[in-house]
Amino acid sequence: MASRSPSDYISRRAHGVDASGIRKVFDLAAKMKDPINLSIGLPDFDVPDPAKEAAIAAIRSGQNRYTQTQGIAPLRERLRKDLSAEIGRDVGEVLITSGVSGGLFLAILATIDPGDEAVFLDPYFVMYKHLLTLAGGKPIAVDSYPDFHFHPGRVEKAITPRTKLLILNSPSNPTGVVMTEAEVKAAVDVARRHDLLILSDEIYEPFLYDGGRRLPSAAKSYEKTIILRGFSKSHAMTGWRLGYAAGPEAVISQMTKLQQYTYVCAPSALQHAALAALDVDMSAAVTAYRRKRDLVFDGLSKKFEMVKPEGAFYIFPKAPAGKSASDFVTRAIEKNVLIIPGNVFSDRDTHFRISYATTDEKLARGCEILTSLA
Ligand code: PMP
Repeated sequence: MASRSPSDYISRRAHGVDASGIRKVFDLAAKMKDPINLSIGLPDFDVPDPAKEAAIAAIRSGQNRYTQTQGIAPLRERLRKDLSAEIGRDVGEVLITSGVSGGLFLAILATIDPGDEAVFLDPYFVMYKHLLTLAGGKPIAVDSYPDFHFHPGRVEKAITPRTKLLILNSPSNPTGVVMTEAEVKAAVDVARRHDLLILSDEIYEPFLYDGGRRLPSAAKSYEKTIILRGFSKSHAMTGWRLGYAAGPEAVISQMTKLQQYTYVCAPSALQHAALAALDVDMSAAVTAYRRKRDLVFDGLSKKFEMVKPEGAFYIFPKAPAGKSASDFVTRAIEKNVLIIPGNVFSDRDTHFRISYATTDEKLARGCEILTSLA
């Protein structure tokens, strides 16, 4: 028998995940010299000083060992108190995760059996599709073009007896759309009618630019909701890998069990730093990003069809008529502007994502170039 080559050891599970879209963009980006990079999904400010100091102090004072699987008690208690006050009832158990990615992975692993379906809007955060596939589940993306809002009729049509999860992401990556109170109510009604668990990915919760100060969340009216939030975006800690999941004990305890045998715990010293970060006023960052949102929206409005984003730091304009988004992105890259084609986040190849978490100068220049290409 011929011996196996290293690639012969790869599982069907790994092969089932296709990362070619985003890899193409990274490959192109690697060839660019000092690009106007409008592709990065992370804040352009740094971790606030009090959090850095708390991390250093925690390391110096020996907080360097495993923590309890579920995370350190003061952080969990603080988050439970804050979240409960926000949603107007006890939020349930809190698990500190390795980023919201960790929370998503554990939530999906804890709930999805092979063949189970999970419904979410297209365009979507790429990880949903791939994590569901890894778990043997079936990702069901429901078209939300052209306004990217939640249309209960369309979602309901996608629900089958195998549907278990409804994944919501507001504010959304990649569209920046924020679900209204009425949409959240409609989503909860759908979940109730079909007895679904809601995973509410609220990682961009602090970045809200219009309307009320607080995010409409399904958790307020529906107890079978797992809230997923984190520190990556709110405090620019993407590399610190800190997030949290909150919700019904029956689900969170299973996620905790799975964390024990995967991530073990979130980074120990950094959990202490996260507690300090919760007391830092980040409103200046939100004000700055609101201004950047306006800058990019106004800068592109002459030539592009767009939905004005109300949160996160993304905008998802339509590529000029007659062009696929991939073609348009290739031309933008030739002009040294790095953006991401919509087909990375969608079954369609008609739009592109801009992250406006960058300097005003780069944004202005990027908008000029994109407009000239249109
Ligand atoms: N959810 C959404 C919608 C995101 O955009 C991201 C990061 N890009 C994550 C989850 C994961 O973030 P992290 O693991 O850094 O907390």
